[in-house]
Amino acid sequence: MRIELLGVGGAFSPPEAGHTSALIYGGLNLLLIDCGSRVFDTLRRRDQEDGLDRISHINAVAITHLHDDHVGSLGSLLFYRYYVLGKETEIFCGDQLRPKLQSYLSAVLGDRVFGRPGKDLHLEAPAASGTVYSWGCAEPTPGIHLRPRQVLDAPGEPDYGFTLWEKTGKPESSVFWSGDALFGRFVEDGDPWGFQTDSCAGLLFCDCSFSPRYPQTVHAHLEEYKALPEHIQERIVLVHHNGDVERHKKEIEGTRLQLGVPGAVYAL
Ligand SMILES: [Zn+2]
Repeated sequence: MRIELLGVGGAFSPPEAGHTSALIYGGLNLLLIDCGSRVFDTLRRRDQEDGLDRISHINAVAITHLHDDHVGSLGSLLFYRYYVLGKETEIFCGDQLRPKLQSYLSAVLGDRVFGRPGKDLHLEAPAASGTVYSWGCAEPTPGIHLRPRQVLDAPGEPDYGFTLWEKTGKPESSVFWSGDALFGRFVEDGDPWGFQTDSCAGLLFCDCSFSPRYPQTVHAHLEEYKALPEHIQERIVLVHHNGDVERHKKEIEGTRLQLGVPGAVYAL
């Protein structure tokens, strides 16, 4: 599996950090995770810079939650693919997010575009949290499985992380994407993101604020990751951070943590 980070910042990070999102490469198809307000422009700029035609190959988008830094340019991407490229886009999200995302898309795209199965935008949502979805890829490249897991975040706002793996892949080649989340906890079972389990992901892309922890926080903080054992730290890529890359690199010196930067590519 190949993962390209498009952006690594949050809502208030400097523009050059982008908004935290990633492309998952599966053969000719691309899966986009989150589409914050800066992401569509980032995609167009990257395509112009290196000549790759990412936007036309993004046939699926997975959304963690509905904050603007995660969904703010989804409408532009869907419109562009539909009207300019003539292509539909499949959308995945967790079950509790589905009605909210449908309302959002109805408002943003209009009913004429939204909700005509088989013709226009195709919204796929899990029947239940934890349902495994298969994102089909052109043969012979194996498909990618996508499993939403609800994570703890701001009260009343459903927020999901995702576990992703190739159909024929091994556990160590799987990836966990946290979404915006308090440190290391799923809603359904309190499982600590698989940090300690045999089936843990090979790489974990984790929400990390570099600000000191404060009582009402809805994010995980650097001090919490620093307390993890080294063999877990070395599998963690910090994303959704404050966006000051040079300063953050100094702040994680002496740890095994990795800092996510825009444009970084990982292969598992
Ligand atoms: Zn965010």
